[in-house]
Amino acid sequence: NREIHLASRPEGWPTPENFDLVEVDLPELGDGQVLVKNHYMSVDPYMRGRMNDVKSYVPPFQIGEALDGGAIGEVVASTSADVPVGATVLHGLGWREYAVLDAAEARVVDAGEIGESTYLGALGMTGLTAYAGLVYAGGFEEGDVVFVSGAAGAVGSMVGQIAKAMGASRVIGSAGSAEKIARIEELGFDAGFDYHDGPVVDRLREAAPDGIDVYFDNVGGDHLEAAIDVLNPEGRVTLCGAIAQYNETEPPCAPRNLALAIGKRLRLQGFLVGPYFDKMGEYAEKMSAWLADGSVQFDETVREGLENAPQAFIDLLRGANTGKMVVKL
Ligand code: NDP
Repeated sequence: NREIHLASRPEGWPTPENFDLVEVDLPELGDGQVLVKNHYMSVDPYMRGRMNDVKSYVPPFQIGEALDGGAIGEVVASTSADVPVGATVLHGLGWREYAVLDAAEARVVDAGEIGESTYLGALGMTGLTAYAGLVYAGGFEEGDVVFVSGAAGAVGSMVGQIAKAMGASRVIGSAGSAEKIARIEELGFDAGFDYHDGPVVDRLREAAPDGIDVYFDNVGGDHLEAAIDVLNPEGRVTLCGAIAQYNETEPPCAPRNLALAIGKRLRLQGFLVGPYFDKMGEYAEKMSAWLADGSVQFDETVREGLENAPQAFIDLLRGANTGKMVVKL
């Protein structure tokens, strides 16, 4: 069995040297455990934070130990009556070919028609992040103008399409290339801009002549500052991610205009998906219907082989993905 271990902690951008591919023996199954052959694993931006030795909402990865994260695979041995051999399970021990875990930590899913990797993206944590972040943290209401950054990514592309499906009057997205903007327009976004094309605030004003009501922030920095400028009174912000600063060694100075939030009575809401896992049923029902009627589509960027997982992760941070980045094992 091969696993990816943390070899060293990055300063700034991670490099392949921060990861080790290691051959290990599998432990014997204890009572109520399963052995899972992983088929797909997720690489996610939050894993960058876990490479640092800092206390956060998820514990840091440890040097010399396997990384972990979302994965889906097939049970190939089981000592649990609840989770039999042959079941497809979603669990938290990615970054390895085989995983041994308590059956209670595995969620059995029916991946029949939809495809297993969808449970790591549109029908998984990523999609729930988009939905709960927009609806619950962002207080989205029908008729709102919504702006989302990282719009061609896994979460962002879902946010824009969910907003449209739920009656947004206008949805604007920003992303890092002309191809990505063309793609989000195909997905139904009303407008989009490449954030490399001049100051974000100028591009956002052009795209949102009547202002915005909700900003779903995946990026932070100049994007957040621009949104604060362009938000309408009583506008709402979901602070979901700040990927522009994950690899920076100096903290950003933006948003410099935060005081505007007072006069406009803005609400800036920090958001984590964890507390919303009880909404997964509600979300999955809605998303399944949107996928079935074609109102939501999703993209995946698939890399192959555990040995390529570190590079897939590094490339994700640099924007090589459209939609959800997954690794097929
Ligand atoms: P994505 O699929 O969006 O991949 C990351 C994307 O970030 C890249 O494709 C790249 O696209 C973009 N990016 C990288 N650097 C920059 C930059 N300097 N400025 C602007 N964009 C940049 O990942 P996810 O959908 O998984 O995650 C999106 C965000 O949501 C992240 O910030 C993540 O941390 C956050 N998140 C938060 C959760 C929570 O519970 N709070 C849960 C899940 C995700 P481009 O080419 O457009 O630059």
